[in-house]
Amino acid sequence: MPDVSLALGPGDAAEFIYEKGVVLARDGQEARLVEDTVRMYFTEATGLTADRVRRVGPETNRSGITRIQVGDPGHGDRHGDRAVAHALRAMREHEGRAGRRLVSRNHVVSIAGSSSGEPVPAPLTQGTNPSPDEGGYDVDTAADVLIVDNGLTHDYGAVPLLAHVQGDLHGTETDDQGNLLQYVGHGTFIAGLVAAVAPNTDITVRSTLNDAGAILESEFGERLFAAVDEHGWPDIISLSAGTSNGRVDGLLGVEGFMQELRGKRTLMVAAAGDNASATPFWPAAYASLPDFADAVLSVGALRSDGEFGACFSNHGAWVSAFAPGERLTSALTGFDAPVPYLYQHSTYDACRFGFGYACTCQYPRHTGALSEAGTPVKPDEVMFEGYAHWSGTSFAAALAAGMAAAYMTADKELAPRAVRDQLLTVNAAVAEMRGGHVLALIPPTWRPGAVVELGP
Ligand SMILES: [Zn+2]
Repeated sequence: MPDVSLALGPGDAAEFIYEKGVVLARDGQEARLVEDTVRMYFTEATGLTADRVRRVGPETNRSGITRIQVGDPGHGDRHGDRAVAHALRAMREHEGRAGRRLVSRNHVVSIAGSSSGEPVPAPLTQGTNPSPDEGGYDVDTAADVLIVDNGLTHDYGAVPLLAHVQGDLHGTETDDQGNLLQYVGHGTFIAGLVAAVAPNTDITVRSTLNDAGAILESEFGERLFAAVDEHGWPDIISLSAGTSNGRVDGLLGVEGFMQELRGKRTLMVAAAGDNASATPFWPAAYASLPDFADAVLSVGALRSDGEFGACFSNHGAWVSAFAPGERLTSALTGFDAPVPYLYQHSTYDACRFGFGYACTCQYPRHTGALSEAGTPVKPDEVMFEGYAHWSGTSFAAALAAGMAAAYMTADKELAPRAVRDQLLTVNAAVAEMRGGHVLALIPPTWRPGAVVELGP
């Protein structure tokens, strides 16, 4: 996001990223209350300048959200924004009286995946994992899955597995040197996973998250509305992006969209996030709010053996179930001509999250261009020629979305939200996540891999 000044929060925890100098409020009366209250608080209590406090951007939109500028986005550093912190504080008393939140930071919503590793080339001869289910495609009974992610790679049409996939192309896929850009192929990879698990499915990929896999919360709700406006409400939305916000009552920017979703028959299957954290990650964590429990399935990741949680996976009571999410194999790009890729991040000597198995933090080893030390390094280059191995809750969610679609078409009587219950009550296995038992959704054609325990 080149034109936006960003900071990390909350405090030193660095669990999310947000826009500096701006807060969000609901349209209309609430936005005016926030504007007036913050202006008064700044003048009376902080010495911050109140002149800048004003509503910016469209007065109303379908998300029901207004941006309110509260400070100079150029002030402070990436560790915090004083004006935003004070604006949130200014509203505490009002929020206490109202019994609900009135103001929020403007968080960055991004594709889950920063901690789960980058794609690794995989040979075409070994096929995908999960491998394609043998069921056929039937235009009259096919389930309708909408993938909100980044766009399809240009050569996806060459892949038989993706015969019933359509949607937005990614557009620019490589840099000036011809190297594949980071995250390109994410939506294609997900489409391949859904298609493998649920062959009787019409899949549409929307390029909502094309901009390096990230979007501001203030725009995210509008983009979700745009995706369903263009497509119609599908049976299933597969969503692999989100953010935490330090709260347990939802994400203000998607509140309008989630309320509308509630009244439809669509099931949202959402990635739980890759921060190895128990902090609720939205929209996935809507699965834990009573009003949305039937409409959202939140999905964490299991490691390659399907028996334990993956090191990077978020977890907690707000995660509905876990599906395999380590080293899955699906379509990426390079089907018509090989495409080079330079690694962005180096692997670590040990698991960043303290796990004792050969996880994606460490293997397969590579050196990345953006090394943590800040010193320039020569990154390792690989060549993609079609398939890739990739890891993340994004892909675990795609498998769960595929299972829901397959279940729906196997039993034509079943509505998407009834499938959610069936999957969790009848179809779920059990796995272990951080010492506790969790529900596991294992696609029939997925093959477990060996997991190397590294010992204490
Ligand atoms: Zn790890």
